[in-house]
Amino acid sequence: MEREKEMLRYAYTQSPFYQSLLQKKKASAEDLMEDWTKVPVVDRRQMVCADECVIPSSSQSSPEGNQRIYDMSSGSNGMFMGIPWSVKDMISSVSPLWDCRSRFYGLKVQDKSCFFHMYPDFCDEGTARDPRSNRKDLGFSVLGLTEDRVERIYQEMRNYEPKWILMPPSVALLFADYISKGKAKEIPSLKCVELIGEWVTDKQRKQIEKAFHCKTVNIYGSYEMNAIAYECPEGHMHLLEDNVFAEIMDGQKVLPDGEEGDIVLTSLHNTLMPFVRYSLGDRGKISTKKCSCGHPGRILRLTKAKRNDMIRVDQDIDIPPYEFTYAFQCVMNSMEVEMLQYQVEQTGYFSYIVTILTKDRKLLEQQEVQEEFKRIFQERLPHDFLKKGIYTFRFRDEMPSERAVKKMRTFWSFKGDEKK
Ligand SMILES: [Zn+2]
Repeated sequence: MEREKEMLRYAYTQSPFYQSLLQKKKASAEDLMEDWTKVPVVDRRQMVCADECVIPSSSQSSPEGNQRIYDMSSGSNGMFMGIPWSVKDMISSVSPLWDCRSRFYGLKVQDKSCFFHMYPDFCDEGTARDPRSNRKDLGFSVLGLTEDRVERIYQEMRNYEPKWILMPPSVALLFADYISKGKAKEIPSLKCVELIGEWVTDKQRKQIEKAFHCKTVNIYGSYEMNAIAYECPEGHMHLLEDNVFAEIMDGQKVLPDGEEGDIVLTSLHNTLMPFVRYSLGDRGKISTKKCSCGHPGRILRLTKAKRNDMIRVDQDIDIPPYEFTYAFQCVMNSMEVEMLQYQVEQTGYFSYIVTILTKDRKLLEQQEVQEEFKRIFQERLPHDFLKKGIYTFRFRDEMPSERAVKKMRTFWSFKGDEKK
């Protein structure tokens, strides 16, 4: 049986969320097994809002629980969702990525690398474990990237002599800016910079390559799936088809090769949280054209993907927008309020409008509670420039329509001078 069908059967017989979909369709798992075209397309919005849990009841209390990796991801549209992985699944899931790294760029599991993560460890840096590959490498938090810290991290990376660095483009651009000011010596051990998590333009890539004196390699991935596609030396993004089953769809219809539509994925590995026909909200097309690099994976071309602006706090100071995600997570942890989604619109160098979708609107509109919320939020913003901001909060309890969600981003920056 194809692996996507095995995953389908597992999800639709074990997960309360998928079982409720079956009930609504008045269908059985067998019906879907027989006809894959009937399998519903799901997305993060549905999972976040559902009353039923996605995690299969059988694995909620399994002994494997001790060996879980848990990521809280806010996604490109600011919707919070926790995504658990078992260590075993994680290792199988990242193995196609390692094949590519080794085959295309000669990178080996035992080579040293640096990576960037979303955890707040900026006081205590040093060797950290990358939970995605289960290796020891030098990791740094993307939070609180002030000029001083960028300089310090760059020196630490240089001393560590990594073969490659894995970072989001917005973070790579901060370093490129620092290097191009002329004070930093190059990192001679570096073979490439892997760019992940955000859309990057050709111009930005050139900027990063010039600063780091090495090539850049694009990875397309998500917390739900891990690596989905990897760029070969010919510049093609090959789907990692031993990790994901990919379809391009328009609604419930599968589009032929070459046509643009929604990227819909089935994880072939995550059994703790199954994703079957899951739309990430990105758009693209797939080509079956053979590539001279020899990789068998079909070629994915992204036409619309995660694109977030930088926070502009001064004429020439930009901050990647991860800071907000972290601060909101701190609020949720310490106040026991449930947030489903956030959006921040910057209206001036120091002014922001924050819209929060929450099941606890009435509670949060009480003055005392709201003050506590604001206090924790502002206190936990890692960057001093953001602590100084003036924030206007709006709490909502209505889910935006599916259409609106597709257009939604986490953050809009303001352009140009302070608005009057
Ligand atoms: Zn290729």
